[in-house]
Amino acid sequence: MAKMRAVQVSRPKGPFELVEREIPEPGAGSIRIKVQACGICHSDMYTKEGLYPGIQYPRVPGHEVAGVIDALGSGVAQWKVGQRVGVGWHGGHCGYCDSCRRGDFLTCQVAPRVTGISYDGGYAEYMIAPAAVAALIPDELSPVEAGPWIGGLGHLGIQYAVKMGFRTVGIARGKDKEPLAKKLGARHYIDSQGQDPAAELMKLGGAKVILATVTDAKAMGAVLGGLGIGGKLIILGAAAETLEVPPLALLGGRRSIVGWPSGTSIDSQDTLSFSALSGVRSMNEVFPLERAAEGYERMMSGKAKFRVVLTPGA
Ligand SMILES: [Zn+2]
Ligand SMILES: [Zn+2]
Repeated sequence: MAKMRAVQVSRPKGPFELVEREIPEPGAGSIRIKVQACGICHSDMYTKEGLYPGIQYPRVPGHEVAGVIDALGSGVAQWKVGQRVGVGWHGGHCGYCDSCRRGDFLTCQVAPRVTGISYDGGYAEYMIAPAAVAALIPDELSPVEAGPWIGGLGHLGIQYAVKMGFRTVGIARGKDKEPLAKKLGARHYIDSQGQDPAAELMKLGGAKVILATVTDAKAMGAVLGGLGIGGKLIILGAAAETLEVPPLALLGGRRSIVGWPSGTSIDSQDTLSFSALSGVRSMNEVFPLERAAEGYERMMSGKAKFRVVLTPGA
């Protein structure tokens, strides 16, 4: 049996271990991907720390995968060996429960699966994924660029908002991120330490949409008052603390707070084509597979500019 290198966690809070494993064979309805790049995401801590209900060990983390299809299981109609594909957070669904029949695969009630949590992910030279969760990667994007799309937040959110035609405001702690936010196209910048972000947003007319990419409920609460009439706070950061909201702040101006855990494979594919078309690019620090632990620390430190990406197949 041919072997591959993989980085696994064998118990909750255990270390990352570089191991040799047999290259897995794709079962019915699945594809094998030769992994070229895999983003390291804050949500990989669910695997590292054992925080996801029902997770089994050992487990290979990684849900920001970009690579090439190198083998097909039986019954895979839509993919060919050699196609470049990515796999994101949404790792599978049953296809027949009420949610799935409504086309809402992410909230599948029977078999919702998460890449790198329900099954082994992209911290490896090869991985297996259900054919339904793969997204085609356009030729214009390199594997390292494509991986983080499947999961990257802040610096990409600014670029998307700008390219979608919004008057865009970057908000972060301190002044050091201002030049970059402006370079990425933000018209305004608010230093949430030195200024009251809600008041500053209201001076600009109030936000239509605030993308909350931080993993900090207090920071989310601090911008809430900056929503304009009908404004929406979209929660993308997985903060566990309580968010305090005065109901009146939502009521009068028809404001709302919604969560968005992830899209499905076609959302990823649309995002990748939009990125290729509009020139949105991720900025990455690249680590080889064997330095996954160091890359993870770097990501957790919050100092990375901006995504940390492993390159197992480089
Ligand atoms: Zn389902
Ligand atoms: Zn992610």
